[in-house]
Amino acid sequence: MDSIPPQLPVRSKVTVTAIPGDGIGPEVMRATQQVLAAADAQVEWEEALAGAEAFRRGIASGAPRETLDSIARTGVALKGPLETPVGHGEKSANVALRKTFEMYGNVRPVRELPGIRTPFSGRGIDFVVVRENVEDVYAGIEHMQTPGVAQCLKIITEVGCERILRLAAAVAEAEGRRKVTVATKANIMKLTEGMLKRVGEQVLAEYPSLSNEHMIVDNCAHQMVIRPEQFDVAVMTNMNGDILSDLAAGLVGGLGVAPSANLGDGVAMFEAVHGSAPQIAGKGIANPTALLLSALMMLRHVGDFATARRIEHALYVTLEEGRDLTGDIAREAEGVPTQQFVDRVIANLGRESALVPAREYRPIALKRWPQITWYRAASTRELVGVDVFVESERDPRAISITLQAAAEGSAFDLAMIGSRGAQVWPEVAGHTFLVDHFRARFMFREPPKGNGIAEITDLLQRIGRQHNWMHIEKLQRFDGADAYSKA
Ligand code: NAP
Repeated sequence: MDSIPPQLPVRSKVTVTAIPGDGIGPEVMRATQQVLAAADAQVEWEEALAGAEAFRRGIASGAPRETLDSIARTGVALKGPLETPVGHGEKSANVALRKTFEMYGNVRPVRELPGIRTPFSGRGIDFVVVRENVEDVYAGIEHMQTPGVAQCLKIITEVGCERILRLAAAVAEAEGRRKVTVATKANIMKLTEGMLKRVGEQVLAEYPSLSNEHMIVDNCAHQMVIRPEQFDVAVMTNMNGDILSDLAAGLVGGLGVAPSANLGDGVAMFEAVHGSAPQIAGKGIANPTALLLSALMMLRHVGDFATARRIEHALYVTLEEGRDLTGDIAREAEGVPTQQFVDRVIANLGRESALVPAREYRPIALKRWPQITWYRAASTRELVGVDVFVESERDPRAISITLQAAAEGSAFDLAMIGSRGAQVWPEVAGHTFLVDHFRARFMFREPPKGNGIAEITDLLQRIGRQHNWMHIEKLQRFDGADAYSKA
């Protein structure tokens, strides 16, 4: 009797939303899909529109309803770059997609690639930048406070810090990494950046297999250039992560080879770090490596580690041998068209590179965050004062006289006037360049009996008779600690 062949595991097809995007997007998407198909990746594509064409059709977010529905249905997207056309949409379609699906974590691997010469070649750079993706100054809350003074709010939440730190730890564990570096500007922004540092000390202590350290983010930028091999996983708030992950991409060959994943609860979107590169769009010469590497992250995300490994080896062999590379990474000769590079990668499927780091990937164990309003209680709360922002062309001493007069008979004393964070009244040594934007700090003479609103309203009315105030901020103490920065 014939022996029965061993049963091969049946791989079911995964449906993925494919957003070709703008500029070189459709070219690098087609190239990536070709390689995945040749490697027999069990992916079914659902093509969707976003970006410039959507803006042209008058969709303000840049992402039509059908695209959002597709991503909600599949839970996985591979996305080409989207340009934000000036004069069509106010917002970036990328940011809209990340926010719609609360993809709070941006994961950017930074790994030296064979055959790609950089000043850092041979150093064995191999780390991951994990960037918070939805908070920070990218919340996009901006105001002109006077005709010449703008403000952008930096919103950092405790639960947002916890989410990104747990994601960083999960990435480290999935890739068998050992260390998490929390990089912040906590020395200056003690409440916002300091929150990531503080929460990091608590949360990362729960992962005994990982060591952790804190690094001031500007030194982190310096260290990434001086000694990049020291990093394993580096986690940051949104803007710091945006800047440092681009810097990190530059260490290993630049934007043409830098992949990324946007991860959230139940939805993941994979994309190259680069943009739509309009200068080379339509010429058939773009390098698809960054989107292909992003697609490998996607395959691992859906559990197809074997196909990801196969394509990774074929890509590495291609880069190592240096034949048929696109212009941005070609060593000597002129680059070849995208299609020729793709054909070479496909021809190399099945070949093994000795240079692919031996890493046993496991699925990233993402915590499910319940869809609730996160409420953080405090055992005590005190209202101790109020900062009132006023517009004035007068000098600080003259302003102090009118503000003190305004406070007479109110529940407050004027404690201080500041200009862009520096105290200008009472006078201190040094010279502060003055603009028409002042912060007047008023402190309650005695703790208010109720919620203090009546006293604050009274004060604002008094100030409003002499000054244009545009913004107030309560000064509070939570659990006995000041919840505001000092002058
Ligand atoms: P970019 O599109 O990344 O292009 C900058 C330069 O990098 C290109 O001119 C090209 O250099 C090179 N390059 C980028 N990707 C390449 C590839 N795959 N192959 C070969 N060379 C590549 O940055 P940008 O010009 O600042 O941005 C253009 C548009 O993209 C903007 O509308 C921006 O908003 C958008 N953007 C979107 C995303 C996203 O969707 N995630 C990200 C960033 C920017 P050479 O000119 O030297 O060939």
